[in-house]
Amino acid sequence: MQKTISILGSTGSIGEQTLSVIDQTVGYSVGYLTAQTNIQKLEQQALTYNPIGVVITSEPHYIEFKKNTSYKGNIFFGVDGLCEAACSDDTDILMSALVGFSGVIPTLEAIKKGKTVALANKETLISAGEIIMNAVKTHSAKLIAVDSEHNALLQCLVGEDISSINTITLTASGGPFFSLPIEEFSTITLEKALKHPKWKMGSKITIDSSTLMNKGFEVIEAKWLFDLQPNQIKVLVHPQSIVHSLVEFSDGSMKAQLGMPDMRIPISYALSYPKRFSYNFPRLALEEIQTLQFYPPDFQKFPCLQVAFDCLEKGGNSTAILNAANEVAVAWFLEQKIGYTDIIRSIEFALNKMPFVAHPSLADIIEIDTQTRSLLEQHLSTKL
Ligand code: NDP
Ligand code: MG
Repeated sequence: MQKTISILGSTGSIGEQTLSVIDQTVGYSVGYLTAQTNIQKLEQQALTYNPIGVVITSEPHYIEFKKNTSYKGNIFFGVDGLCEAACSDDTDILMSALVGFSGVIPTLEAIKKGKTVALANKETLISAGEIIMNAVKTHSAKLIAVDSEHNALLQCLVGEDISSINTITLTASGGPFFSLPIEEFSTITLEKALKHPKWKMGSKITIDSSTLMNKGFEVIEAKWLFDLQPNQIKVLVHPQSIVHSLVEFSDGSMKAQLGMPDMRIPISYALSYPKRFSYNFPRLALEEIQTLQFYPPDFQKFPCLQVAFDCLEKGGNSTAILNAANEVAVAWFLEQKIGYTDIIRSIEFALNKMPFVAHPSLADIIEIDTQTRSLLEQHLSTKL
């Protein structure tokens, strides 16, 4: 049966790879596409895929697009437009691939409509995990992980009882600074941090991968997706990025999912779940790889990972504060206004200053996100 997929963040790395999976799949059509500012790419996509509608969230870009485009479908603006796309009756599957906190509201709205949501935007679960998972249950929505590690876990858990999970292990490539001595971290430049050894991704997640905050976020993401306790979640550095994650069961047996480091594989599984479609993506040749290595992470060199575990343990609104502070710090680093080691210092500053709320409502989460950003922006501005 024909299925319509709408992509929030279609001009991004996951968005474009989702379109390339759709290109290879019979029976999928495109519902809505969205961009923040990249209207050139959105125009190309709109003319190629002829979606029902497009959404642009930056006002000047929305105005410019409306004036100059030759695309004849619906053109929506802002968060309301994102929610319209996410909740439309025409959307069978929503690919949630915005970056950062901007994904929370439209993803939640789609869940409240009982949609099937393929979730790449992990920041939604970091900021509002309890609210999201409660809404998934209440509205009988389906939340399918796109993140390669969680998608791997999903594959390992097919046919298993979730209560028989003993531990899960998320693998991490280690990023570009896995072997760099800790004394040299203060000299890390933006150019070096943007060179990920294995994955080509958007700039924010590339920096998060280099600090291992991305892995910390994935620990939190795993807790919510698979209903785990913090002490059930482990991290191992696996530089080859072939084993995407593992589950250890109550009888001591382990299952792992292996594959090329190619996001089109988890994207396609999320779209076809629980079935598999045939794709001619590059195949894994284990005889060429030969060696698979695993190391414990160095929490001293990568304090962001430790802070994420601490926030998960603490619970409440602390992971929302963590997410907001990290977004501000990474944005400032990307603009070269602060140094690499200022990222963790900024996060710790915000976590120490913001008040703790044990069971935040959505309004509390939005408020804490805004307050954390403004506190940290102000703090960093005074240091310039
Ligand atoms: P990109 O930065 O490449 O793309 C982000 C997309 O969101 C773009 O379409 C961008 O529009 C849009 N966007 C950015 N900011 C806003 C905003 N404030 N409001 C509305 N739209 C916005 O990110 P990625 O594709 O790399 O990542 C997307 C999500 O998937 C992230 O949460 C990331 O952690 C997760 N993820 C990504 C992986 C990857 O391989 N890339 C792997 C696993 C998870 P525009 O192009 O106009 O700026
Ligand atoms: Mg991942």
